[in-house]
Amino acid sequence: MAKLHVPNLVCVQQVCSRYECEEDGVDCVRCGTRKHSFGENPVGDLLSYLTEPRPRANKIVATAHNVKAFDLHSIFNRAIVLKWKPELIMNGLKIMCMKMEHLVI
Ligand SMILES: [Zn+2]
Repeated sequence: MAKLHVPNLVCVQQVCSRYECEEDGVDCVRCGTRKHSFGENPVGDLLSYLTEPRPRANKIVATAHNVKAFDLHSIFNRAIVLKWKPELIMNGLKIMCMKMEHLVI
């Protein structure tokens, strides 16, 4: 039986196209707080955060550091529960890229 990977912490650092947004430790005038962590319901809270209304952005691109390809299965499973229809780029059983709604992960 395959083991199900369950993330217990997700940390996010966001940037936008504004120069100030790329300075470490400085919150952005447009984005607000740039660093977030989700621990209680990490995948659900991450997706809720990524799908918050952002009037200045019509597309969100999320890249993952050390995600490894199987970790995206947790996000994929949550997307299915939400009745989203993710488009996947696979390498064997590994998810290399996932597009859904206005998100690219
Ligand atoms: Zn910003």
